[in-house]
Amino acid sequence: MTEPGPASLAELEKRLARDLELLILPTPEWSPPHGDLLDVAIVGAGMAGLIAAVALQRLGISRVSLFSPPPSAKRKAGSRPGAGPPVPASPSG
Ligand SMILES: Cc1cc2nc3c(=O)[nH]c(=O)nc-3n(C[C@H](O)[C@H](O)[C@H](O)COP(=O)(O)OP(=O)(O)OC[C@H]3O[C@@H](n4cnc5c(N)ncnc54)[C@H](O)[C@@H]3O)c2cc1C
Repeated sequence: MTEPGPASLAELEKRLARDLELLILPTPEWSPPHGDLLDVAIVGAGMAGLIAAVALQRLGISRVSLFSPPPSAKRKAGSRPGAGPPVPASPSG
């Protein structure tokens, strides 16, 4: 028999909190804070880089920055996609 759904928003939120607790989410930090240092720098903010960043967050490694080539390097005709020094891909990074 199926469990009845939540009767109210408050009950739904209570269940969500319990589910997240069982899943141990948000994941506790993996390493202690150490100033401005990153745990991981990901060079290339494409599909693989984005997925790596999400997977690391899921493991409790949140001091992660994605780096991308500056738009000027991408625009240059005939240049390689990664030409030029990488720059942080997000304002938080
Ligand atoms: C026209 C086209 C259509 C596609 N359509 C689909 C589709 O419909 N479905 C699908 O599943 N796949 C599709 N693909 C494939 C998909 O885009 C790739 O498989 C996927 O993007 C590969 O991910 P990636 O992270 O390995 O590489 P990328 O997505 O290429 O990411 C690499 C990133 O690294 C950056 N980078 C490179 N060098 C440097 C450097 N030196 N410093 C900093 N950053 C750097 C690049 O700027 C880029 O942002 C398509 C591809 C193309 C070209």
